[in-house]
Amino acid sequence: MKPLEYPEEVKGILSFDFDGTLFLPENEVSLEPIFYETIAGLRDEGWLWAINTGRSLLYMLEGFQQGGFPFAPDFLVAREREIYTAGDQFGRWHRVEEWHAHYMRDMAHFMEESAEFIEMMKRYIEDETAAQWIEEEGDPAGIIASSEDEMLGIAAFVEQERQSYGLVGVLRNSIYMRFTHKDYHKGSSLQELARRVGVPVEQVFAIGDGHNDIDKLHPEVAGMIACVSNSQEEVKEYVRGHGGYVAEGHGSLGSVEALRHYLGCEDKLLHRPL
Ligand SMILES: [Mg+2]
Repeated sequence: MKPLEYPEEVKGILSFDFDGTLFLPENEVSLEPIFYETIAGLRDEGWLWAINTGRSLLYMLEGFQQGGFPFAPDFLVAREREIYTAGDQFGRWHRVEEWHAHYMRDMAHFMEESAEFIEMMKRYIEDETAAQWIEEEGDPAGIIASSEDEMLGIAAFVEQERQSYGLVGVLRNSIYMRFTHKDYHKGSSLQELARRVGVPVEQVFAIGDGHNDIDKLHPEVAGMIACVSNSQEEVKEYVRGHGGYVAEGHGSLGSVEALRHYLGCEDKLLHRPL
């Protein structure tokens, strides 16, 4: 799987979350072909595109297959913060090492400064909740709650406790939560991408469905913000509150709808009914 040929003139960048925003495994067609047709049309006009996901690189490679991607996105942001540029002639992904080195340096600092917080959270989760504490290689720590309601309660507790630990950032999506350095999330990775390709914030489109997408739906990150109709309620509220577009469609159809809303309908394809 290779990306389309790099445009002569870059018009802007389109950033999509994957699970829920594009990919709906429970549907007969998990990712609608009209999404790729729309992207191919916009790509001809100079719009680059990126997948910004909480998935790891390996898990996302599986996602590309499951979603039947006919061509690769120009960029992939895995685990909300590892930036990759699209495949070479062999379809290999290349991590942006400069950005990764900054992350590793800042994470080392985070681990030193926040060890006490992490330890306290672990005790709280294990002793006082039905949630599960998880430690994965390359990530400081995470939580899997027994329900979305329990996660909301945990999130409120975390918000209060992290006030005394300046570096603690939280990435949350349905029943999952991870701790990280506060400067690394979907928002800062998308800003870095836009900086690298040299496009202003007004030419950045971002769409998502989960709490961890809110960082990239910030007005300082993207001038065009949207969410699909199957988004978490707090995401819809955020998008509405910031003058963004809440689609009526689910998943990839909702994403196409949002692209049409912001990027006009000059192209014939964009007139096709969804
Ligand atoms: Mg999602």
